[in-house]
Amino acid sequence: MLTRRQFVSSAAIGPLALIGAPAILRAQGLLHAYPFTLGVTSGDPAPDGFVLWTRLAPVPTDRHGGMPMVPMPVQWEVAMDEHFATIAAAGEAIARPELGHSVHVEVGGLLPDRPYWYRFTLGGDRSPQGRARTLPLPGSSPQSLRFGVCGCQNYEDGHYTALRHLAAEDLAFVYHYGDFIYENARPGPGITPWGQALPLVRSHVGQECFDLADYRLRYAQYLTDPDLQAARAAHSWLSSFDDHEIGNNWVSDMDAKGAPADIFLLRRQAALQAWYEYMPVRAALLPRGGATTAYREARFGDLLAMDVLDTRSYRSDQPCGDGFKPRCAGMSDRTAHVLSNEEERWLLRNMKRKTTRWNCMAQQVMMMSLDRRMTPDMPEKIYNLDSWAGYEVPRRRILSRIKGLDNVVVLTGDEHQNFAGILDDGNRPVAVEFVSTSISSGGDGSDLRVGSDRMRANNPQVKFLNDQRGYLTCDVTPDNWRTNFMVVDRVSRPGGAITRRAAATVARGDVGISMS
Ligand code: FE
Ligand code: CA
Repeated sequence: MLTRRQFVSSAAIGPLALIGAPAILRAQGLLHAYPFTLGVTSGDPAPDGFVLWTRLAPVPTDRHGGMPMVPMPVQWEVAMDEHFATIAAAGEAIARPELGHSVHVEVGGLLPDRPYWYRFTLGGDRSPQGRARTLPLPGSSPQSLRFGVCGCQNYEDGHYTALRHLAAEDLAFVYHYGDFIYENARPGPGITPWGQALPLVRSHVGQECFDLADYRLRYAQYLTDPDLQAARAAHSWLSSFDDHEIGNNWVSDMDAKGAPADIFLLRRQAALQAWYEYMPVRAALLPRGGATTAYREARFGDLLAMDVLDTRSYRSDQPCGDGFKPRCAGMSDRTAHVLSNEEERWLLRNMKRKTTRWNCMAQQVMMMSLDRRMTPDMPEKIYNLDSWAGYEVPRRRILSRIKGLDNVVVLTGDEHQNFAGILDDGNRPVAVEFVSTSISSGGDGSDLRVGSDRMRANNPQVKFLNDQRGYLTCDVTPDNWRTNFMVVDRVSRPGGAITRRAAATVARGDVGISMS
Protein backbone atom coordinates (compact mmCIF):
# COMPACT_ATOMS: atom_id res chain seq x y z
CA MET A 1 0.00 0.00 0.00
CA LEU A 2 1.14 3.51 -0.80
CA THR A 3 1.39 5.72 2.26
CA ARG A 4 0.28 9.32 2.18
CA ARG A 5 3.92 10.40 2.31
CA GLN A 6 4.83 8.21 -0.69
CA PHE A 7 1.83 9.50 -2.56
CA VAL A 8 2.86 13.09 -1.99
CA SER A 9 6.47 12.51 -3.01
CA SER A 10 5.59 10.48 -6.11
CA ALA A 11 3.07 13.10 -7.15
CA ALA A 12 5.73 15.76 -6.87
CA ILE A 13 7.45 14.64 -10.07
CA GLY A 14 4.52 15.25 -12.37
CA PRO A 15 1.99 17.95 -13.11
CA LEU A 16 0.60 17.46 -9.61
CA ALA A 17 3.71 18.95 -8.02
CA LEU A 18 3.02 20.88 -4.84
CA ILE A 19 -0.30 19.16 -4.40
CA GLY A 20 -0.44 17.32 -1.13
CA ALA A 21 -4.05 16.42 -0.44
CA PRO A 22 -7.17 15.51 -2.39
CA ALA A 23 -8.98 18.60 -1.06
CA ILE A 24 -6.37 20.71 -2.78
CA LEU A 25 -6.76 18.66 -5.96
CA ARG A 26 -10.45 19.48 -5.96
CA ALA A 27 -9.73 23.12 -5.21
CA GLN A 28 -7.41 23.37 -8.20
CA GLY A 29 -10.06 21.91 -10.47
CA LEU A 30 -8.40 18.55 -11.12
CA LEU A 31 -11.52 16.85 -9.77
CA HIS A 32 -14.33 18.53 -11.63
CA ALA A 33 -17.06 17.48 -9.31
CA TYR A 34 -18.25 15.25 -6.48
CA PRO A 35 -16.34 11.94 -6.83
CA PHE A 36 -18.80 9.48 -5.21
CA THR A 37 -21.39 9.59 -8.00
CA LEU A 38 -21.55 5.76 -8.31
CA GLY A 39 -22.42 5.14 -4.66
CA VAL A 40 -21.04 2.59 -2.24
CA THR A 41 -21.58 -1.08 -1.49
CA SER A 42 -20.33 -3.96 0.64
CA GLY A 43 -19.88 -7.65 0.02
CA ASP A 44 -18.32 -11.04 0.75
CA PRO A 45 -19.32 -10.85 4.41
CA ALA A 46 -17.49 -12.92 7.04
CA PRO A 47 -17.99 -13.21 10.80
CA ASP A 48 -15.33 -10.53 11.39
CA GLY A 49 -15.87 -8.15 8.47
CA PHE A 50 -16.68 -7.56 4.82
CA VAL A 51 -15.46 -5.76 1.73
CA LEU A 52 -16.28 -2.09 1.31
CA TRP A 53 -16.46 -0.69 -2.21
CA THR A 54 -16.65 2.61 -3.99
CA ARG A 55 -15.28 4.10 -7.20
CA LEU A 56 -14.12 7.66 -7.77
CA ALA A 57 -15.90 9.03 -10.83
CA PRO A 58 -16.64 12.76 -10.84
CA VAL A 59 -17.92 12.43 -14.42
CA PRO A 60 -19.13 8.81 -14.53
CA THR A 61 -19.72 8.47 -18.26
CA ASP A 62 -16.45 10.20 -19.24
CA ARG A 63 -13.38 8.19 -20.11
CA HIS A 64 -11.66 7.36 -16.77
CA GLY A 65 -14.70 8.74 -14.94
CA GLY A 66 -13.26 12.22 -15.13
CA MET A 67 -10.34 11.22 -12.88
CA PRO A 68 -6.71 12.32 -13.20
CA MET A 69 -4.49 9.29 -13.87
CA VAL A 70 -2.82 9.19 -10.46
CA PRO A 71 -3.36 7.01 -7.39
CA MET A 72 -5.53 8.80 -4.88
CA PRO A 73 -5.90 8.05 -1.15
CA VAL A 74 -9.46 7.68 0.13
CA GLN A 75 -10.42 7.57 3.81
CA TRP A 76 -12.92 4.99 5.04
CA GLU A 77 -14.80 4.57 8.31
CA VAL A 78 -16.93 1.76 9.75
CA ALA A 79 -19.27 2.70 12.61
CA MET A 80 -21.40 0.84 15.13
CA ASP A 81 -24.33 3.19 14.48
CA GLU A 82 -25.83 5.11 11.61
CA HIS A 83 -24.80 8.45 13.12
CA PHE A 84 -21.12 7.41 13.19
CA ALA A 85 -20.92 8.16 16.93
CA THR A 86 -18.78 5.05 17.61
CA ILE A 87 -16.14 4.23 15.00
CA ALA A 88 -15.27 0.51 14.91
CA ALA A 89 -12.57 0.69 12.22
CA ALA A 90 -11.06 3.31 9.93
CA GLY A 91 -8.22 3.64 7.48
CA GLU A 92 -7.00 4.75 4.11
CA ALA A 93 -7.18 2.93 0.79
CA ILE A 94 -5.61 3.89 -2.50
CA ALA A 95 -7.87 4.27 -5.55
CA ARG A 96 -5.59 3.31 -8.43
CA PRO A 97 -5.92 4.28 -12.08
CA GLU A 98 -5.03 0.67 -13.04
CA LEU A 99 -8.33 -0.42 -11.45
CA GLY A 100 -10.45 2.47 -12.69
CA HIS A 101 -10.07 4.25 -9.34
CA SER A 102 -12.19 1.60 -7.67
CA VAL A 103 -11.67 1.04 -3.94
CA HIS A 104 -11.87 -2.37 -2.28
CA VAL A 105 -11.31 -2.42 1.48
CA GLU A 106 -11.24 -5.75 3.32
CA VAL A 107 -12.33 -4.86 6.83
CA GLY A 108 -11.63 -7.34 9.66
CA GLY A 109 -11.73 -7.33 13.44
CA LEU A 110 -15.45 -6.60 13.69
CA LEU A 111 -18.09 -8.34 15.79
CA PRO A 112 -20.14 -11.19 14.29
CA ASP A 113 -23.79 -11.09 13.24
CA ARG A 114 -24.53 -7.39 13.46
CA PRO A 115 -25.02 -4.36 11.23
CA TYR A 116 -22.37 -1.71 10.64
CA TRP A 117 -22.46 1.59 8.77
CA TYR A 118 -19.66 2.84 6.56
CA ARG A 119 -18.64 5.80 4.40
CA PHE A 120 -15.70 7.17 2.44
CA THR A 121 -14.13 10.63 2.45
CA LEU A 122 -11.97 12.27 -0.19
CA GLY A 123 -10.81 15.76 0.68
CA GLY A 124 -13.91 17.73 1.50
CA ASP A 125 -16.23 15.22 -0.15
CA ARG A 126 -18.04 12.47 1.72
CA SER A 127 -19.72 9.46 0.12
CA PRO A 128 -23.27 8.38 0.80
CA GLN A 129 -23.29 5.95 3.72
CA GLY A 130 -23.91 2.25 3.38
CA ARG A 131 -25.00 -0.49 5.71
CA ALA A 132 -23.21 -3.84 5.92
CA ARG A 133 -23.70 -6.95 8.05
CA THR A 134 -21.22 -9.45 9.41
CA LEU A 135 -22.12 -13.17 9.46
CA PRO A 136 -22.61 -15.19 12.66
CA LEU A 137 -19.66 -17.26 13.90
CA PRO A 138 -19.43 -20.69 12.23
CA GLY A 139 -19.89 -22.45 15.59
CA SER A 140 -23.05 -20.50 16.47
CA SER A 141 -26.60 -21.77 16.05
CA PRO A 142 -28.76 -19.01 14.57
CA GLN A 143 -32.45 -19.80 14.68
CA SER A 144 -33.41 -17.76 11.64
CA LEU A 145 -31.98 -16.17 8.53
CA ARG A 146 -33.53 -14.00 5.83
CA PHE A 147 -31.52 -13.32 2.69
CA GLY A 148 -32.25 -12.06 -0.84
CA VAL A 149 -31.60 -13.41 -4.33
CA CYS A 150 -31.58 -11.35 -7.53
CA GLY A 151 -29.92 -10.73 -10.89
CA CYS A 152 -30.55 -10.16 -14.62
CA GLN A 153 -30.87 -6.38 -14.65
CA ASN A 154 -30.92 -5.30 -18.29
CA TYR A 155 -30.95 -1.50 -18.15
CA GLU A 156 -32.66 -1.20 -21.53
CA ASP A 157 -35.57 -3.48 -20.61
CA GLY A 158 -36.90 -1.66 -17.56
CA HIS A 159 -36.57 0.38 -14.42
CA TYR A 160 -34.92 -1.01 -11.28
CA THR A 161 -38.09 -0.75 -9.22
CA ALA A 162 -37.54 -4.24 -7.80
CA LEU A 163 -34.10 -3.16 -6.54
CA ARG A 164 -35.69 -0.16 -4.82
CA HIS A 165 -38.01 -2.54 -2.98
CA LEU A 166 -35.14 -4.94 -2.28
CA ALA A 167 -33.25 -2.06 -0.63
CA ALA A 168 -36.07 -1.75 1.92
CA GLU A 169 -35.99 -5.44 2.92
CA ASP A 170 -34.31 -6.53 6.16
CA LEU A 171 -31.76 -9.06 4.87
CA ALA A 172 -28.58 -10.67 6.15
CA PHE A 173 -27.07 -10.57 2.64
CA VAL A 174 -28.06 -10.78 -1.03
CA TYR A 175 -26.87 -13.40 -3.52
CA HIS A 176 -26.56 -11.96 -7.06
CA TYR A 177 -26.58 -14.66 -9.74
CA GLY A 178 -25.17 -12.44 -12.47
CA ASP A 179 -26.17 -10.53 -15.58
CA PHE A 180 -25.37 -7.41 -13.54
CA ILE A 181 -24.78 -5.69 -16.89
CA TYR A 182 -25.70 -6.68 -20.44
CA GLU A 183 -22.86 -6.34 -22.90
CA ASN A 184 -25.06 -5.86 -25.97
CA ALA A 185 -27.23 -2.97 -27.16
CA ARG A 186 -30.68 -3.10 -28.70
CA PRO A 187 -31.39 -1.01 -31.79
CA GLY A 188 -34.96 -0.29 -30.71
CA PRO A 189 -38.21 -1.76 -29.38
CA GLY A 190 -38.60 -5.51 -29.75
CA ILE A 191 -41.04 -8.36 -29.33
CA THR A 192 -40.53 -11.51 -27.28
CA PRO A 193 -40.71 -15.00 -28.85
CA TRP A 194 -44.05 -15.44 -27.03
CA GLY A 195 -45.45 -12.32 -28.64
CA GLN A 196 -45.20 -9.64 -25.97
CA ALA A 197 -44.01 -6.11 -26.79
CA LEU A 198 -40.59 -5.31 -25.33
CA PRO A 199 -40.15 -1.53 -25.34
CA LEU A 200 -36.72 0.06 -25.19
CA VAL A 201 -37.30 1.72 -21.82
CA ARG A 202 -33.85 3.40 -21.81
CA SER A 203 -30.74 2.99 -23.94
CA HIS A 204 -27.25 1.75 -23.25
CA VAL A 205 -24.50 4.28 -23.88
CA GLY A 206 -22.32 2.86 -26.64
CA GLN A 207 -22.48 -0.28 -28.70
CA GLU A 208 -21.66 -3.85 -27.70
CA CYS A 209 -18.82 -4.05 -25.16
CA PHE A 210 -15.49 -5.51 -26.25
CA ASP A 211 -12.69 -3.71 -24.45
CA LEU A 212 -12.05 -2.59 -20.90
CA ALA A 213 -13.20 0.98 -21.52
CA ASP A 214 -16.49 -0.33 -22.99
CA TYR A 215 -17.23 -2.56 -19.98
CA ARG A 216 -16.21 0.13 -17.47
CA LEU A 217 -18.56 2.61 -19.11
CA ARG A 218 -21.42 0.07 -19.09
CA TYR A 219 -21.07 -0.55 -15.33
CA ALA A 220 -20.80 3.21 -14.73
CA GLN A 221 -24.02 3.82 -16.63
CA TYR A 222 -25.85 1.11 -14.67
CA LEU A 223 -24.61 2.54 -11.37
CA THR A 224 -25.95 5.99 -12.14
CA ASP A 225 -29.37 4.43 -11.42
CA PRO A 226 -30.49 5.53 -7.93
CA ASP A 227 -32.48 2.34 -7.27
CA LEU A 228 -29.44 0.15 -7.99
CA GLN A 229 -27.32 2.42 -5.79
CA ALA A 230 -29.88 2.16 -2.97
CA ALA A 231 -29.89 -1.66 -3.09
CA ARG A 232 -26.09 -1.75 -3.20
CA ALA A 233 -25.79 0.61 -0.21
CA ALA A 234 -28.41 -1.19 1.88
CA HIS A 235 -27.00 -4.72 1.74
CA SER A 236 -23.90 -6.89 1.71
CA TRP A 237 -23.63 -8.83 -1.53
CA LEU A 238 -22.37 -12.23 -2.61
CA SER A 239 -21.61 -11.44 -6.25
CA SER A 240 -21.19 -13.90 -9.08
CA PHE A 241 -21.22 -13.53 -12.84
CA ASP A 242 -23.15 -15.28 -15.58
CA ASP A 243 -22.85 -14.74 -19.32
CA HIS A 244 -23.74 -11.10 -19.97
CA GLU A 245 -20.93 -9.69 -17.84
CA ILE A 246 -18.80 -10.89 -20.78
CA GLY A 247 -20.84 -12.03 -23.81
CA ASN A 248 -24.05 -13.94 -24.50
CA ASN A 249 -23.75 -17.66 -23.62
CA TRP A 250 -19.95 -17.74 -23.39
CA VAL A 251 -18.27 -20.71 -21.72
CA SER A 252 -14.54 -21.21 -21.06
CA ASP A 253 -12.68 -19.75 -24.04
CA MET A 254 -15.70 -19.82 -26.40
CA ASP A 255 -18.33 -17.24 -27.23
CA ALA A 256 -21.51 -17.56 -29.25
CA LYS A 257 -20.11 -15.50 -32.11
CA GLY A 258 -17.34 -17.91 -33.01
CA ALA A 259 -14.42 -15.67 -32.10
CA PRO A 260 -11.10 -17.57 -32.05
CA ALA A 261 -10.33 -18.74 -28.49
CA ASP A 262 -7.20 -16.60 -28.08
CA ILE A 263 -9.11 -13.53 -29.22
CA PHE A 264 -12.16 -14.22 -27.04
CA LEU A 265 -9.86 -14.63 -24.02
CA LEU A 266 -8.70 -11.03 -24.45
CA ARG A 267 -12.32 -9.89 -24.30
CA ARG A 268 -12.97 -12.12 -21.28
CA GLN A 269 -9.93 -10.67 -19.52
CA ALA A 270 -11.17 -7.10 -20.06
CA ALA A 271 -14.69 -8.00 -18.92
CA LEU A 272 -13.52 -9.82 -15.79
CA GLN A 273 -11.27 -6.90 -14.85
CA ALA A 274 -14.25 -4.52 -15.09
CA TRP A 275 -16.39 -6.99 -13.10
CA TYR A 276 -13.75 -7.12 -10.37
CA GLU A 277 -13.40 -3.35 -10.34
CA TYR A 278 -17.11 -2.82 -9.79
CA MET A 279 -17.96 -5.69 -7.43
CA PRO A 280 -17.51 -5.69 -3.62
CA VAL A 281 -15.34 -8.82 -3.70
CA ARG A 282 -12.10 -9.79 -2.01
CA ALA A 283 -8.62 -9.38 -3.49
CA ALA A 284 -8.58 -13.18 -3.87
CA LEU A 285 -10.94 -12.66 -6.83
CA LEU A 286 -8.61 -10.25 -8.65
CA PRO A 287 -8.26 -11.73 -12.16
CA ARG A 288 -4.87 -13.28 -12.72
CA GLY A 289 -3.79 -14.35 -16.17
CA GLY A 290 -7.24 -13.37 -17.47
CA ALA A 291 -9.20 -15.62 -15.08
CA THR A 292 -10.68 -15.29 -11.62
CA THR A 293 -11.44 -18.01 -9.09
CA ALA A 294 -14.94 -16.86 -8.20
CA TYR A 295 -16.43 -19.97 -6.59
CA ARG A 296 -16.44 -19.66 -2.83
CA GLU A 297 -18.41 -20.48 0.31
CA ALA A 298 -20.25 -18.34 2.87
CA ARG A 299 -21.50 -19.92 6.11
CA PHE A 300 -24.30 -18.64 8.30
CA GLY A 301 -23.45 -20.37 11.61
CA ASP A 302 -24.60 -23.98 11.59
CA LEU A 303 -27.82 -23.00 9.77
CA LEU A 304 -26.70 -22.61 6.15
CA ALA A 305 -23.65 -23.14 3.97
CA MET A 306 -23.89 -21.32 0.66
CA ASP A 307 -21.61 -22.48 -2.11
CA VAL A 308 -21.45 -19.83 -4.82
CA LEU A 309 -20.57 -21.56 -8.08
CA ASP A 310 -18.95 -20.46 -11.32
CA THR A 311 -20.84 -22.32 -14.06
CA ARG A 312 -19.20 -20.46 -17.00
CA SER A 313 -15.42 -20.28 -16.63
CA TYR A 314 -14.60 -23.99 -16.87
CA ARG A 315 -17.63 -25.41 -18.71
CA SER A 316 -17.30 -27.57 -21.81
CA ASP A 317 -18.92 -26.24 -24.99
CA GLN A 318 -22.72 -26.34 -25.16
CA PRO A 319 -23.69 -29.50 -27.08
CA CYS A 320 -25.07 -29.51 -30.59
CA GLY A 321 -24.38 -25.83 -31.24
CA ASP A 322 -26.30 -24.51 -28.20
CA GLY A 323 -29.85 -23.16 -28.28
CA PHE A 324 -33.28 -24.66 -27.55
CA LYS A 325 -33.26 -27.99 -29.42
CA PRO A 326 -34.49 -31.59 -29.41
CA ARG A 327 -32.39 -34.27 -27.73
CA CYS A 328 -29.01 -34.80 -29.40
CA ALA A 329 -26.05 -37.11 -28.79
CA GLY A 330 -23.87 -34.35 -27.34
CA MET A 331 -26.20 -34.04 -24.33
CA SER A 332 -24.91 -37.38 -23.03
CA ASP A 333 -21.20 -36.72 -23.70
CA ARG A 334 -19.32 -38.51 -20.89
CA THR A 335 -16.49 -35.96 -20.91
CA ALA A 336 -18.79 -32.92 -20.61
CA HIS A 337 -18.55 -30.76 -17.51
CA VAL A 338 -20.23 -27.66 -16.11
CA LEU A 339 -17.77 -27.13 -13.24
CA SER A 340 -14.03 -27.77 -13.25
CA ASN A 341 -12.89 -31.01 -11.59
CA GLU A 342 -11.47 -28.98 -8.73
CA GLU A 343 -14.66 -26.95 -8.31
CA GLU A 344 -16.86 -30.08 -8.38
CA ARG A 345 -14.69 -31.84 -5.78
CA TRP A 346 -14.77 -28.72 -3.61
CA LEU A 347 -18.57 -28.51 -3.90
CA LEU A 348 -19.20 -32.16 -3.03
CA ARG A 349 -16.72 -32.05 -0.15
CA ASN A 350 -18.55 -29.01 1.27
CA MET A 351 -21.97 -30.58 0.81
CA LYS A 352 -21.04 -33.81 2.56
CA ARG A 353 -19.57 -32.21 5.70
CA LYS A 354 -23.00 -32.22 7.34
CA THR A 355 -22.06 -29.34 9.61
CA THR A 356 -24.99 -27.12 8.62
CA ARG A 357 -28.73 -27.71 8.63
CA TRP A 358 -29.04 -26.53 5.03
CA ASN A 359 -26.73 -26.64 2.02
CA CYS A 360 -27.28 -24.17 -0.77
CA MET A 361 -25.86 -24.28 -4.28
CA ALA A 362 -26.00 -20.64 -5.38
CA GLN A 363 -25.43 -20.78 -9.12
CA GLN A 364 -26.50 -19.43 -12.49
CA VAL A 365 -28.21 -21.78 -14.97
CA MET A 366 -31.22 -24.04 -14.44
CA MET A 367 -30.46 -27.47 -13.04
CA MET A 368 -33.90 -28.98 -13.74
CA SER A 369 -33.98 -30.65 -17.15
CA LEU A 370 -37.21 -29.25 -18.55
CA ASP A 371 -39.18 -29.91 -21.69
CA ARG A 372 -39.36 -26.38 -23.13
CA ARG A 373 -42.20 -26.90 -25.63
CA MET A 374 -44.76 -24.10 -25.49
CA THR A 375 -46.71 -24.83 -28.69
CA PRO A 376 -48.61 -27.97 -29.74
CA ASP A 377 -46.87 -28.35 -33.13
CA MET A 378 -43.63 -29.86 -31.79
CA PRO A 379 -43.37 -33.66 -31.78
CA GLU A 380 -40.11 -33.89 -29.79
CA LYS A 381 -39.12 -32.53 -26.38
CA ILE A 382 -37.06 -29.34 -26.51
CA TYR A 383 -34.14 -28.66 -24.13
CA ASN A 384 -32.23 -25.52 -23.17
CA LEU A 385 -28.70 -26.63 -24.06
CA ASP A 386 -27.09 -23.72 -22.17
CA SER A 387 -28.60 -25.06 -18.90
CA TRP A 388 -27.58 -28.19 -16.95
CA ALA A 389 -30.06 -30.07 -19.20
CA GLY A 390 -27.41 -29.97 -21.93
CA TYR A 391 -24.89 -31.67 -19.63
CA GLU A 392 -26.59 -34.90 -18.55
CA VAL A 393 -23.53 -36.74 -17.25
CA PRO A 394 -22.19 -34.13 -14.80
CA ARG A 395 -25.78 -33.25 -13.86
CA ARG A 396 -26.60 -36.82 -12.87
CA ARG A 397 -23.22 -37.26 -11.20
CA ILE A 398 -23.79 -34.32 -8.85
CA LEU A 399 -27.44 -35.20 -8.17
CA SER A 400 -26.53 -38.79 -7.34
CA ARG A 401 -23.83 -37.60 -4.94
CA ILE A 402 -26.16 -35.24 -3.03
CA LYS A 403 -28.88 -37.91 -2.79
CA GLY A 404 -29.76 -38.57 0.83
CA LEU A 405 -28.50 -35.24 2.15
CA ASP A 406 -32.14 -34.07 2.27
CA ASN A 407 -31.05 -30.52 2.86
CA VAL A 408 -29.91 -29.15 -0.50
CA VAL A 409 -31.51 -26.08 -2.06
CA VAL A 410 -30.35 -24.92 -5.48
CA LEU A 411 -30.71 -21.21 -6.27
CA THR A 412 -30.62 -20.17 -9.91
CA GLY A 413 -31.10 -17.20 -12.23
CA ASP A 414 -30.74 -16.74 -16.01
CA GLU A 415 -34.28 -17.74 -17.01
CA HIS A 416 -36.00 -14.37 -16.50
CA GLN A 417 -38.91 -16.30 -14.96
CA ASN A 418 -39.70 -17.62 -11.49
CA PHE A 419 -39.68 -21.39 -11.00
CA ALA A 420 -40.00 -23.69 -8.00
CA GLY A 421 -39.33 -27.35 -8.71
CA ILE A 422 -37.91 -30.71 -7.72
CA LEU A 423 -34.57 -32.19 -8.79
CA ASP A 424 -34.42 -35.98 -8.95
CA ASP A 425 -31.63 -38.45 -9.64
CA GLY A 426 -33.81 -40.47 -12.03
CA ASN A 427 -35.50 -42.37 -9.21
CA ARG A 428 -36.40 -40.10 -6.37
CA PRO A 429 -36.30 -36.41 -5.37
CA VAL A 430 -32.90 -35.29 -4.11
CA ALA A 431 -33.09 -31.49 -3.91
CA VAL A 432 -35.30 -28.49 -4.60
CA GLU A 433 -34.53 -25.68 -7.04
CA PHE A 434 -35.75 -22.09 -6.87
CA VAL A 435 -35.17 -20.01 -9.97
CA SER A 436 -35.35 -16.27 -9.39
CA THR A 437 -36.82 -14.12 -12.13
CA SER A 438 -35.08 -10.95 -13.38
CA ILE A 439 -34.92 -7.45 -11.96
CA SER A 440 -35.76 -5.97 -15.38
CA SER A 441 -34.66 -8.29 -18.21
CA GLY A 442 -37.58 -9.25 -20.43
CA GLY A 443 -39.73 -6.22 -19.57
CA ASP A 444 -43.04 -6.14 -17.71
CA GLY A 445 -43.98 -9.76 -18.37
CA SER A 446 -47.25 -11.20 -17.13
CA ASP A 447 -48.29 -13.86 -14.67
CA LEU A 448 -47.78 -16.62 -17.26
CA ARG A 449 -46.36 -16.49 -20.78
CA VAL A 450 -48.58 -17.70 -23.59
CA GLY A 451 -47.85 -21.45 -23.80
CA SER A 452 -46.65 -21.80 -20.22
CA ASP A 453 -49.67 -23.97 -19.37
CA ARG A 454 -48.24 -26.53 -21.79
CA MET A 455 -44.85 -26.28 -20.14
CA ARG A 456 -46.44 -26.86 -16.74
CA ALA A 457 -48.31 -29.92 -18.04
CA ASN A 458 -45.15 -31.37 -19.62
CA ASN A 459 -43.01 -30.88 -16.50
CA PRO A 460 -44.68 -32.24 -13.36
CA GLN A 461 -41.52 -31.47 -11.34
CA VAL A 462 -42.31 -27.75 -11.74
CA LYS A 463 -44.52 -26.60 -8.86
CA PHE A 464 -44.62 -22.89 -9.66
CA LEU A 465 -44.00 -20.76 -12.73
CA ASN A 466 -44.36 -17.00 -13.14
CA ASP A 467 -43.15 -14.37 -15.64
CA GLN A 468 -43.06 -11.11 -13.67
CA ARG A 469 -40.02 -9.13 -12.60
CA GLY A 470 -38.70 -9.16 -9.03
CA TYR A 471 -36.49 -11.04 -6.60
CA LEU A 472 -36.58 -13.78 -3.96
CA THR A 473 -36.32 -13.57 -0.22
CA CYS A 474 -35.54 -16.79 1.65
CA ASP A 475 -36.58 -17.35 5.28
CA VAL A 476 -34.51 -20.16 6.74
CA THR A 477 -34.90 -21.84 10.14
CA PRO A 478 -33.33 -25.12 11.34
CA ASP A 479 -36.39 -27.09 10.17
CA ASN A 480 -38.01 -25.03 7.40
CA TRP A 481 -37.07 -23.07 4.31
CA ARG A 482 -39.52 -20.62 2.78
CA THR A 483 -38.81 -18.89 -0.51
CA ASN A 484 -40.91 -15.77 -1.16
CA PHE A 485 -41.44 -14.87 -4.82
CA MET A 486 -41.58 -11.06 -4.76
CA VAL A 487 -42.84 -9.47 -7.99
CA VAL A 488 -43.46 -5.93 -9.28
CA ASP A 489 -46.45 -5.08 -11.45
CA ARG A 490 -44.41 -3.19 -14.06
CA VAL A 491 -40.89 -2.05 -14.96
CA SER A 492 -41.73 -0.13 -18.17
CA ARG A 493 -42.57 2.92 -16.08
CA PRO A 494 -41.18 3.90 -12.66
CA GLY A 495 -43.03 3.31 -9.41
CA GLY A 496 -44.26 -0.27 -9.78
CA ALA A 497 -45.79 -1.92 -6.69
CA ILE A 498 -44.31 -5.02 -5.06
CA THR A 499 -46.32 -8.03 -3.91
CA ARG A 500 -45.52 -11.51 -2.72
CA ARG A 501 -46.83 -13.56 -5.61
CA ALA A 502 -46.28 -16.92 -3.89
CA ALA A 503 -44.30 -18.68 -1.20
CA ALA A 504 -42.67 -22.12 -1.45
CA THR A 505 -41.97 -24.06 1.73
CA VAL A 506 -39.58 -26.97 2.21
CA ALA A 507 -39.35 -29.03 5.41
CA ARG A 508 -35.81 -30.20 6.17
CA GLY A 509 -35.49 -33.95 5.70
CA ASP A 510 -38.41 -34.11 3.27
CA VAL A 511 -37.53 -33.16 -0.32
CA GLY A 512 -40.75 -31.54 -1.48
CA ILE A 513 -42.32 -28.14 -2.02
CA SER A 514 -45.63 -26.83 -0.75
CA MET A 515 -46.86 -23.65 -2.43
CA SER A 516 -48.97 -20.99 -0.81
FE1 FE B 1 -30.19 -12.53 -17.85
CA1 CA C 1 -27.79 -15.25 -18.30
